[in-house]
Amino acid sequence: GKTDGKGQYRFFDPALYEQIKSRTRLKQHLIDAIERHQLQLHYQPRVATHSGQLCSMEALVRWMHPEQGIIPPLDFIPLAESSGLISRIGELVITQACAQLAQWRAQGLPLVPISVNVSPKQFLQGGIDRHLAAQLTEHQLPANLIEVEITESAMLGEHESILSQLSGLRELGVKLHVDDFGTGYSSLSQLQKLKMDVLKVDKAFTYQLGLSAEGRVFFQAIVSMAHALGMSVVAEGVETADQWRILDELGCNEVQGYFIARPMPAPDMANWMRQAQA
Ligand code: C2E
Ligand code: CA
Ligand code: CA
Ligand code: CA
Repeated sequence: GKTDGKGQYRFFDPALYEQIKSRTRLKQHLIDAIERHQLQLHYQPRVATHSGQLCSMEALVRWMHPEQGIIPPLDFIPLAESSGLISRIGELVITQACAQLAQWRAQGLPLVPISVNVSPKQFLQGGIDRHLAAQLTEHQLPANLIEVEITESAMLGEHESILSQLSGLRELGVKLHVDDFGTGYSSLSQLQKLKMDVLKVDKAFTYQLGLSAEGRVFFQAIVSMAHALGMSVVAEGVETADQWRILDELGCNEVQGYFIARPMPAPDMANWMRQAQA
């Protein structure tokens, strides 16, 4: 805003007004998109490092915009988080993932778990454990078919609401993954106390693997400490055969990345699974 000569606040600031208007418009578009089922999940396989066998897949949301094409999550998740829409999106993601599993089961595909990303903001709002339990019951799915990824940074505050949601999910039998591990400052012992099952090391560290000795040493330290504490390790952002080979040498449990497969729509994922079986 601006002040006039007498120190009084002048309301109208065209730039600010444009910004607010476009945020409001974007929020309304996002609400419409939710109602028109334009938010859809793509799936990216996660495989065992040594055998290459499919272990799980990550659900990654996209906005399938009729004019603008595919809008990536980083272009609308932050707005959803700041405008109170994130819980609706989070519920939609869980609903879609469970329905997808049920559909694949009906088609005779052997099921592997789907891991969903849950925003820290959504954890603060609560209700995820209840929504997930209801969806699992509705589709008669065991709880180990859904895994939850939560970013390392969310763990730092040890916020009461987040902790109680995490234990609610754990009681259901859902595996908990620490996403973007290595980008925050949480200690492994803290994560073990929170009974996290899996460390998903941020792709920045995978990128360093083939480039420097330090990159390798860092990863190796994470793997051995995680294993000593009973957690398993996933590397994300695996883009080369070389990275995959090093991760196998280091004993990293599972890998995910463009070198294995890009995120893809459900029908492509089903074909990928059929080929992987054959
Ligand atoms: P993330 O959870 O860390 O997801 C990994 C991101 O890396 C995804 O980007 C994925 O497509 C991308 N990726 C996968 N393999 C590779 C690779 O080999 N190299 C590189 N450079 N990138 C790779 P995406 O789908 O654009 O998602 C970005 C972020 O948006 C996610 O980061 C996650 O934080 C958020 N997000 C995605 N889906 C959801 C969702 O359903 N709910 C919430 N709350 N957040 C989501
Ligand atoms: Ca993730
Ligand atoms: Ca990540
Ligand atoms: Ca991330």
